[in-house]
Amino acid sequence: MKKYDYLVIGAGLFGATFAYEAAKRGKRVKVIEKRDHIAGNIYTREIDGIQVHQYGAHIFHTSNKKIWDYVNQFAEFNRYTNSPVANYKGHMYNLPFNMNTFSEMWGVRTPQEAEDKINEQRQEMAGKKPQNLEEQAISLIGRDIYEKLIKGYTEKQWGQKATELPAFIIRRLPVRLTYDNNYFNDLYQGIPIGGYTQIVEKMLASDLIDVETGVDFFAKKDEYLKDYPKIVFTGMIDQFFDYQLGELQYRSLHFETEEKPVGNYQGNAVINYTDAETPYTRIIEHKHFEFSKGDKDKTIITREYPADWHRGDEPYYPVNNQRNNELYTKYAQLAKEKADNVIFGGRLGQYRYYNMDQVLGAALKSVDQEFK
Ligand code: UDP
Repeated sequence: MKKYDYLVIGAGLFGATFAYEAAKRGKRVKVIEKRDHIAGNIYTREIDGIQVHQYGAHIFHTSNKKIWDYVNQFAEFNRYTNSPVANYKGHMYNLPFNMNTFSEMWGVRTPQEAEDKINEQRQEMAGKKPQNLEEQAISLIGRDIYEKLIKGYTEKQWGQKATELPAFIIRRLPVRLTYDNNYFNDLYQGIPIGGYTQIVEKMLASDLIDVETGVDFFAKKDEYLKDYPKIVFTGMIDQFFDYQLGELQYRSLHFETEEKPVGNYQGNAVINYTDAETPYTRIIEHKHFEFSKGDKDKTIITREYPADWHRGDEPYYPVNNQRNNELYTKYAQLAKEKADNVIFGGRLGQYRYYNMDQVLGAALKSVDQEFK
């Protein structure tokens, strides 16, 4: 049994990166994955010639050249630029907030006119320190945009009133006084040609790595802990410790994928529904990530519904408010004291709202620490 150096739990981006780097250093790695496929939430599956993002839209973006070069070892990226459009009660607005948005919202034409309008709107919060997400948004961009493009979407996504959400969620909101609909400010972005799954496949291709899917770590936790000298765990850190300090909070999602008998359903990869009444937050039309590849007469769309998380549901987002972050810190301390042969990684293991480039960065950091 003791033929492996590492057991990696979870075949997502963190686990696969760690396994790949360990194998490169001659280590033998066993990877177990609960789902019946690898690649975690970046999993994409080809249907009708296009890559379907099974667990929500994934657009790779980073400003870190090292990370960009790293991921490009495993796939060639297209030049997809994320530019979502918001549908608020049938009115369409470009995102992120830029001159196109302001022009659609207020009829302004120049950056000066837009700035004047925004400043007029921000007056409402003049001299006050924002105490919650609503106040933060209004002090950044004013009430019109807050009400139409932020409030409904955010409250659906997080399942809480904007007045009860921490301000930091919205602090990084990009606001631009140019006619530029590019969502991310990063230097590099794109979608891997041929999908994301190949990235993880290539990472796990080494003869030194054995992968088993459909395996639940918690069914035989004690045995695994006994049998393997070193463990990389990318599941929920509170579950690892049997929730002994209490439950961390997560948000869940549910996806409804449907084929439509039209070549082009919505004209964009991502349309956000920013009103409170529509139960989903966005619809993605997968073919537009690949420049309308695929069938001319049909298309695949996915509606994304945010959901409360209860034990047993899929956790997608950590809810990084103060209460949870403090609890996480206690779990991290417990990990140090009681599980020093376990590396906790990824969105769930490190309880952080990581983007893909940050997951790669965190995995490479763990690798550096492990093999220094
Ligand atoms: N957001 C918003 N309106 C939008 C899109 C995003 O108010 O149309 C806010 C919302 O608070 C959300 C946050 O921006 O939680 C981050 O959204 P994004 O879509 O970037 O998150 P993802 O789920 O893609 O990580």
